Amino acid sequence: MKIHFKFITPILLIATSNTHALNDAQYMQQAIKLAQHNPIFPFSAIIVDNKTGKILCTGLNDIDSSHNPTHHGEIVAISNCSKKYPKLKWSQTTIYTTGEPCPMCEGGVMYAGISKVVYGTSMPWLLKRGYQQSKIRAKTLAESTPFYHGKVVGGVLQEKTNALFAKNNNLRVHKL
Ligand SMILES: [Zn+2]
Repeated sequence: MKIHFKFITPILLIATSNTHALNDAQYMQQAIKLAQHNPIFPFSAIIVDNKTGKILCTGLNDIDSSHNPTHHGEIVAISNCSKKYPKLKWSQTTIYTTGEPCPMCEGGVMYAGISKVVYGTSMPWLLKRGYQQSKIRAKTLAESTPFYHGKVVGGVLQEKTNALFAKNNNLRVHKL
């Protein structure tokens, strides 16, 4: 499937500024909009500056078009931020993601040093519906990692993110 990235760019323009308390629901809504560009795997991530509230980078699962199995939304977002902001202070960022990060993505978040992960749909929910997911929860992994002190918050707008994954479930199952 071909992903048309030119449609993703305008989302960056919706970034807010001078926000001192990040509005989790607002950013999750942006992640949901982005995820709709991948109808098969609606996993997307947005990295936000904690101080300014600015959306720094986005990432959409593009394993189909990139042929890179590590290109989950969070990894793509981290990669995009690394290129765009070589001196980024990761500890001053938050990542919003439509689905709970898998161990690979949570690992990326921890090694980057991102201060907080906010996700919508949980791993158990995805597992029940046949998505390839681990049983190692993101929070468990974070709390098992001595060098990492960030937070993991789940369930933000989960009714909407669950609907997104449920809606696309038939497409995905059909494809597999
Ligand atoms: Zn992942």
